[in-house]
Amino acid sequence: MNCKTYDIVIVGGGIMGSSTAYYMMKTAPRLRVAVIEMDKTYSRASSTLSMANVRIQFSFRPNVQISQYAFEVLENFEEEMAVDGTGPDIRYRREGNLFMVNEENQIPANNALKMQQELGCDIEWWAPEQVREQFPLYNPEGYVGASFGPKDGHLDAYGVLMGYRAKAISMGAEFIHAEVAEITRSGKRVTGVRLKSGEEISAGAVVNCAGAWCSAIASTAGVELPVQPVKRQIFALDTKVKPDRPLPLTYLPSGMYFRTETGGLILLGKSMQEDPVGISFSWDEQRFYDFLWEELAEFVPEFAELKLVRGWAGLYAMNTLDANAILGEWPELDGLFLANGFSGHGLQQAPAVGRYITELINLQDHALDLSIFSPERILKNQPLQETGIY
Ligand SMILES: Cc1cc2nc3c(=O)[nH]c(=O)nc-3n(C[C@H](O)[C@H](O)[C@H](O)COP(=O)(O)OP(=O)(O)OC[C@H]3O[C@@H](n4cnc5c(N)ncnc54)[C@H](O)[C@@H]3O)c2cc1C
Repeated sequence: MNCKTYDIVIVGGGIMGSSTAYYMMKTAPRLRVAVIEMDKTYSRASSTLSMANVRIQFSFRPNVQISQYAFEVLENFEEEMAVDGTGPDIRYRREGNLFMVNEENQIPANNALKMQQELGCDIEWWAPEQVREQFPLYNPEGYVGASFGPKDGHLDAYGVLMGYRAKAISMGAEFIHAEVAEITRSGKRVTGVRLKSGEEISAGAVVNCAGAWCSAIASTAGVELPVQPVKRQIFALDTKVKPDRPLPLTYLPSGMYFRTETGGLILLGKSMQEDPVGISFSWDEQRFYDFLWEELAEFVPEFAELKLVRGWAGLYAMNTLDANAILGEWPELDGLFLANGFSGHGLQQAPAVGRYITELINLQDHALDLSIFSPERILKNQPLQETGIY
């Protein structure tokens, strides 16, 4: 059997794999790039199962800068991704993000706000009365205030993913529907991948964009990543009382978050310590009634009456070292590049990550240096500090 050869093979064609393929074709159009994706429908990809939120409000400066770049890209995304004059419809809605702050998290919240403002971000501090004035349904009692990012918002994640994918294909990237069974190596160098069908594909570089499956596939090349698939659930609620305007994505210090969805439903989630590790997509409505309903009704008393309409589960690729991205070449295996471990905030990082991985592979200068996220920190056990992660 003839072995196919590419310059770059990307394992996983979710938002990371597709954006990397796009930036690769944009900057080095002569490269032969293959993206291997096992799920044509993307029905299990985190990219399509996410809350689809984009925000500037992080506490770690590079994460803020990554989001600033995302804002820039998303502004013109539909035009940039147009193929034959037709662009994707990403339904970008800048309806804001509101982080409620209590006494306990006041100092880190103030520090984060100051740093975001220094970077030129549009972020406001609201006293509890302002919160009530803006969103009369909320009960801000017990909070010292909130930070509000008016430009944060949400979009159609599937639309963004398809935008990158279609554009990359139009520029010459090849998307292959198959499952990668193994990343192959010879000594200290990656040689390509072997598919589940047994077919071997050789490549100069392999990029691991396998999302929640990234550790499983990395381990076939002897690379152990501190990334686990962790189930997170989202619930769609039909509340009896409807807000008179869209609610921003609102975060409570407990980790609960909710926002208005198109059609007037409320989407709600909460990351919990006991969320199960493993590949599973079942969702549990009892979890909402047992753990979340009361807390929601305390903050939004008018939401005490509601109907749970549906829900779903998706996977965080949870970086157990520090919940942040792992970006770059694995120090002990030449040619294996990682774009992994995004936990709950990877969607908004896809533009900056795709561009950065492309620059790394092509040895180009970095428009935004993300080497702080290098995998070396895993080997040195040096976690990054970010408190704004849910
Ligand atoms: C409930 C939930 C809410 C979230 N909310 C947000 C949010 O509001 N904002 C935000 O920025 N982020 C959010 N995230 C996180 C975000 O969705 C992810 O960080 C991001 O989508 C990761 O993209 P990815 O391309 O790495 O992974 P994925 O989208 O999962 O893509 C990985 C792809 O790799 C494929 N694959 C895996 N293994 C193989 C293999 N061996 N062979 C071939 N193909 C393979 C899979 O089929 C999959 O399509 C959320 C995630 C969840 C689960």
